[in-house]
Amino acid sequence: MASPPAPRDAYAAAAMLDCSVDQVGRCAQCTAYTQKYGRGGGPLCAGCREKLAPAPRKQL
Ligand SMILES: [Zn+2]
Repeated sequence: MASPPAPRDAYAAAAMLDCSVDQVGRCAQCTAYTQKYGRGGGPLCAGCREKLAPAPRKQL
């Protein structure tokens, strides 16, 4: 499974995530760079969010 290249530093991560460098932080789960602060930010990176919260299912 191909995964996106890990950004080298917070500046590269900010460019990749299209956010400000001071919104970048480490994912609480895998410590990858992610947008942690500000609008749309969160403690987990997109990959971990996906693992923890699978696509919503239809109501039973
Ligand atoms: Zn993560």
